[in-house]
Amino acid sequence: MTNKPMRLFLGGLVHETSSFSPLPTSVQSFREGVLIHRGDRDALQKIVTQPNLTGVIAAAARQGDTLLPGLYAEAQPSGPLSRADYERLRDELLADLRATLSLGAVDAVLLVLHGAMLAEGYHDCEGDLLVRVRELIGPKTPLGALLDLHCNLSPAMLSCGAALIACKEYPHIDYAARGEELHAMLGAMARGELAIRAHWRRVPLLGIFCTTVAPMSDFVKRLKDCEATLPGILSVSVLHGFPWADTPHTCAAVLVLAEDSPAAAGVAADLLEELAEAFYGMRETASARRLPLKDAMDLAEAEIRVGRPGPVVLADTADNAGGGAAGDSTFVLRELLDRGLRDVALGMIWDPQAVAIAMSAGVGARLPLRIGGKVGPMSGDPVDLDVEVLACREDARQRSLTPGGTDPLGAAVAVRSRGIDIVLNSIRQQVFSAECFTQLAINPAAKRLVVVKSTQHFRSGFDAMASAVVCADSPGSLQANIGDLPFKHLPRPVWPVDQVAN
Ligand SMILES: [Zn+2]
Repeated sequence: MTNKPMRLFLGGLVHETSSFSPLPTSVQSFREGVLIHRGDRDALQKIVTQPNLTGVIAAAARQGDTLLPGLYAEAQPSGPLSRADYERLRDELLADLRATLSLGAVDAVLLVLHGAMLAEGYHDCEGDLLVRVRELIGPKTPLGALLDLHCNLSPAMLSCGAALIACKEYPHIDYAARGEELHAMLGAMARGELAIRAHWRRVPLLGIFCTTVAPMSDFVKRLKDCEATLPGILSVSVLHGFPWADTPHTCAAVLVLAEDSPAAAGVAADLLEELAEAFYGMRETASARRLPLKDAMDLAEAEIRVGRPGPVVLADTADNAGGGAAGDSTFVLRELLDRGLRDVALGMIWDPQAVAIAMSAGVGARLPLRIGGKVGPMSGDPVDLDVEVLACREDARQRSLTPGGTDPLGAAVAVRSRGIDIVLNSIRQQVFSAECFTQLAINPAAKRLVVVKSTQHFRSGFDAMASAVVCADSPGSLQANIGDLPFKHLPRPVWPVDQVAN
């Protein structure tokens, strides 16, 4: 038996903002990502194919919901938006909701957000937006949002009684499951069968925590067990925080959604304490191990000498476009050249100018090419190489984290110099999967060493082929030593900037 269909408003404003990124963010950045307007003729068709909404759309289809699309905007991580651009996007989404409400009742509002979006004058775009949405829809209409676990949870985000559910996995492969849960929760609230209460607690730490390996993999399993077995507990999210967004609420947190009853509140309070303590207790062992570049390269070379099948995969974690870095740094390339390493593939360096030059030279051409190092000091210096153009593609794409989805890489080329195959692209994007290479006729599985610009998401696409994975902390926007970043607003104490007593 299916439940009564809902009239469900869907929208999104998704941006992970790094205060330390050299690249500002504008409405144009969203045009280059995803920008679906309510008035677009095919708005609904476009919104139902958004990877983060897969689970929501499937659940809505089963129930026969009427989907009411509003603005859906998503841009590659980068620096803060201007006040005007943020307000323009926010106000468009609010106007869409207002217009939808004027045409008939809305049973629930579901938004896709990130949780670490910043604009000039706004430390907490999600909190600002959710509060305004609540003002429009009134206290009774269920409101929910899907969040990235790299969210800095704020009091404002929770003040409006929204059902907030974050992905649990890093790589973020579980949006579909979380979307199904949020849809079911909003449905039960809309039918008057469920009232929820959010309980949360900050955990004074920041870091990068991979959930594919212990102890975080066990921790995620524990969260799911709690949801399945504890009375009155509906959803448990562990927010890792986003260290590079400098705000007064930048921090990890645990968030529990429980039934609105004194008994469930008691269970939630105990659970918050247990999980916060457990998360804090595993901060050292759960943190991704990132080695200084030279040490990482030494380890990669040692792993190559072991000679197991498959390439050694070295992650250039500090130049991850997915965290707001430029994606054009040359520190790792320079180190590869200095060491004379050959049989290497490196992807992707964001360099539209070099792509254009190599493309006009054409496949098979040999030419001098200035590569990378263009955006700013955190990109290092450009590297001048004599290259051969191996492949060109006007519209390269890669498989995204959500099954069935792909992300555009723009015009892209592969060039070879001194035994290193380098992929250059023109839509800034981190490496998710092998298509970054195979689309340009490079087989990464056959290389001795593959360098990927990504912090963690690459693992879903490369772990199966890798003989070893090494994470390098080169200089860059996402450097691992958080304590060296010029924070102005970070609440203290917070680990690892400070040692906080257990
Ligand atoms: Zn994330």
